[in-house]
Amino acid sequence: MAKAKIAVNGYGTIGKRVADAVQAQDDMEIVGVSKTRPNYEAAVAHQLGYDIYTLSDRIEAFEKAGIPAAGTLEEMIEKVDLVVDCTPGGIGEKNKEMYEKAGVKAIWQGGEEHELTGFSFNAVSNYEGALGLDFVRVVSCNTTGLCRVIYPIDKKYGVKKARVTLVRRAADPNDAKTGPINAIVPNPIKLPSHHGPDVKTVIPHINITTAAMKIPTTLMHLHTVNLELEKECSAEDIRELFKTQSRIRLIGQGISSTAEIIEVARDLKRPRSDMWENCVWEESITIHDGELYFFQAIHQESDVVPENVDAIRAMLELESDAEKSIAKTNRALGL
Ligand code: NAD
Repeated sequence: MAKAKIAVNGYGTIGKRVADAVQAQDDMEIVGVSKTRPNYEAAVAHQLGYDIYTLSDRIEAFEKAGIPAAGTLEEMIEKVDLVVDCTPGGIGEKNKEMYEKAGVKAIWQGGEEHELTGFSFNAVSNYEGALGLDFVRVVSCNTTGLCRVIYPIDKKYGVKKARVTLVRRAADPNDAKTGPINAIVPNPIKLPSHHGPDVKTVIPHINITTAAMKIPTTLMHLHTVNLELEKECSAEDIRELFKTQSRIRLIGQGISSTAEIIEVARDLKRPRSDMWENCVWEESITIHDGELYFFQAIHQESDVVPENVDAIRAMLELESDAEKSIAKTNRALGL
């Protein structure tokens, strides 16, 4: 069977990872990636063999920089079955008209509003709902991390109320200009934060409130999760449930921080030190006064990447079964 043709619009932190993850699958392939500027990322994309497309008024700038452009963004989109929009939050929505005009399916990322597509995706929570859809949003790194743990717990034990505190990395490792460098920033100050409503775009009935802050780190986010459950269960039950979830990694063995988790990713020779799974501290899983508590760390640069691959498979109806798609994506990535 011919491979599905995919383009990535916006080859940045998420886009470059989605491009490599798509290339690793046997049922889809990257036709091109788009860059607005001929910078070091464009040069590396060219070196990796990706065809680079750009805005029509930038082609000359690419030629001058010695990075040949294969054509314009519009030309790239004409060639594909689906485009994964990985442009910065708020920019992507402006591209919807272009995708509609070209009759191409599109996926946006968590920086866009739910209303842009009307369907927010997380593979384990609602894969089947994306089957055949034209437009889908893959939710943010934090929302992905929350859905992956809340959905299976809710399915088995019922979640009466979720309370989550998110300690967020201030910037990605390649971002030299974003702070804070010596502060803790409640972000947003207004409570509860937008993360709870975002989880509800995927699992609407969950009663959840969230608070978030930014701290001077670039490696990962950390969540304190507290769930009031409908049915009684033990910490051991939750550990066993998490073991059935391929995108949840139980951690221990002296791992006491996000720094050591990234070291594990390096030692596993993961591309770009990516940790695609939620990392739940096994020892932290506790039932106290009838409520469940645990800590999890989320690698913001990569946890949404396998989700994008599964969203492509659902939208193009390459696979109708969520578990089969998840397993296929994981296998190809080495997860
Ligand atoms: P980024 O800034 O690293 O990359 C964006 C890319 O888009 C860059 O290559 C940039 O050159 C390009 N671009 C900029 N303006 C453009 C335009 N007008 N047209 C086409 N391309 C343009 O951003 P990112 O961190 O990869 O974020 C992309 C999306 O993924 C956002 O919606 C973001 O909220 C979401 N997301 C980011 C993270 C994260 O932690 N970085 C995690 C999950 C989801």
